[in-house]
Amino acid sequence: MSQDLNRRDILRTGILLGTAAWLSGCQSHSGGVTELPGKQWDWEDPLNDPLKSPPVKSSNGYTPGPVPTPNTPIGPVPGVIARSQWTNAKPIMTRDAYAMGGVARITVHHDAIPSTGIRSMNDSARRLESVRRSHISNGWVDIGYHYSIDPMGRVWEARPYNLQGAHVKNQNEHNLGIMLMGNFNEHAPTSDALNTLDSFLAEMMRRYRVPIGRVYTHQELGQTACPGVRLQRYMVATRAPSGRLARA
Ligand SMILES: [Zn+2]
Repeated sequence: MSQDLNRRDILRTGILLGTAAWLSGCQSHSGGVTELPGKQWDWEDPLNDPLKSPPVKSSNGYTPGPVPTPNTPIGPVPGVIARSQWTNAKPIMTRDAYAMGGVARITVHHDAIPSTGIRSMNDSARRLESVRRSHISNGWVDIGYHYSIDPMGRVWEARPYNLQGAHVKNQNEHNLGIMLMGNFNEHAPTSDALNTLDSFLAEMMRRYRVPIGRVYTHQELGQTACPGVRLQRYMVATRAPSGRLARA
């Protein structure tokens, strides 16, 4: 857990995280990322497009934003390991904190750090805390993603679901961020993680009424290597008409 991290571990992890993010491009908020041409959305009624609703911020931080019903954040998900199991830290609401205000799309990531050494709850907890500290050091409110899936297929609560995430540059509005621990340019995701990814994505799609056409990977929304070639290949397959997610 977090208190187990000594200063040297934190520094070393920070350096590794920074290097890995630089190599793999999942650090979506730092400079130097060129954006692809504007994404065209296929909303039937552009005036009712929730992605066009600006997030609302009050002078003291978080206020509930404009809610694009019906896909409002609807509460904790059973079976997800609570945030309190890996950190005591709270989001820093004095930074640029925005309300999620509803979910209209989902984006899948890796954290660009090999996860083959992760074998226990403590390993996963330490990984999440390392990622959180790295994201906090970027000046962000909290860890960027809303959920994380570890190699054993456990789902961990990360940034509170009612706060807008920080995981796709300039495209975080109404975008639920799900990160698989690992670097899938270097190794394959485990079958346990992929089984959980499909079932968890299916659950989120049902809850928030997100069609499969709005389930993305990071590189489909911006110029990045995230989520790595092996997870990208899997996502293409599972969303295909005969794929596991499409049939879930
Ligand atoms: Zn990413």
